[in-house]
Amino acid sequence: MIYFVKKMRTLLPALAMTLLSQANLLTAGETPYIRYKVCSGQKYVYLSDLAKYYGMTLAKGREGCEIRSRAASFSFTYEKRAGLYNGVKIHYLFAPVFAAPEPLVSEKDYKLILDPLIRGARTFQKKPVKTVLIDPGHGGKDSGAQTRYREKDLNLEISRKLRTELRKKGFTVYMTRDSDVFIELENRPAKALSYKADIFISIHCNSAQDRYVRGIETYYLTPEGSPSTSDKKSKNTVEKGNSFNKQNLCLAYLIQRCALGNTGTDDRGVRHARFAALKGAPCPAVLVECGFMTNGWEEKNLAWSKYQEGIAEGIAEAIVHYNSIMK
Ligand SMILES: [Zn+2]
Repeated sequence: MIYFVKKMRTLLPALAMTLLSQANLLTAGETPYIRYKVCSGQKYVYLSDLAKYYGMTLAKGREGCEIRSRAASFSFTYEKRAGLYNGVKIHYLFAPVFAAPEPLVSEKDYKLILDPLIRGARTFQKKPVKTVLIDPGHGGKDSGAQTRYREKDLNLEISRKLRTELRKKGFTVYMTRDSDVFIELENRPAKALSYKADIFISIHCNSAQDRYVRGIETYYLTPEGSPSTSDKKSKNTVEKGNSFNKQNLCLAYLIQRCALGNTGTDDRGVRHARFAALKGAPCPAVLVECGFMTNGWEEKNLAWSKYQEGIAEGIAEAIVHYNSIMK
């Protein structure tokens, strides 16, 4: 009924940061020679130039392309935002395009997705994680999704298990709620400030009309000037949480990868959304949708303590990885 593909993905390099030692990677401060082209009002860059810059090889196919090195690989499908980074589904901010004979990716994707995943902490300020604030979604009068179970209860159970795992690993952990109480969405990330939290993790369970849909999704705040994953239009609003675009991405990617490795469910990808719980975060923040309560298999698992532990362990492991690149 349930299978654990335990640690499968953890065999892959954590982030491509190990790639830093590659000889042909430019040193900080050097400007790479990268050609630009404007496509439907958006600035795009030549993927062949980026591949050269990062010391990666570019392989072009009919429907899409890939850039790859020993430590990292990105897959792109033309005109589609869903792609892969080291085998984990990610969503690009804009769809890559093919302007024969050259594949192009948006400048925003280059700067806010490819570069931070490849060069890691070289692209942002390092800040080690000591304190984690866990936010069990919903509560009180707001039950969240409801099937045989109430989402607010599952969120709290998973969050408590995550707290246990993180404490075992030596982190200081707080929760926005530890009982069935209602907290305004906007007040949740604000608590990160009073607890001096270094990261904020909101825990939710998902629901969908289609009962066959299952899997994990990890969200981070949509970068300014970009569309959310479920949207076509960009928004230029800048939120507090946008100061951590790159850290948010690295944390979301690691959580998606490690949580998947511990559950064996479907990979629904790292995604972007302007959730109220993420907008006002004063530190790197992500929202994890741990699975679909509307899928029979996943509903059963989400309510099963062993499976909850698997998710909690995966997220905790990801936070350890994230912390290791922050030192
Ligand atoms: Zn929810």
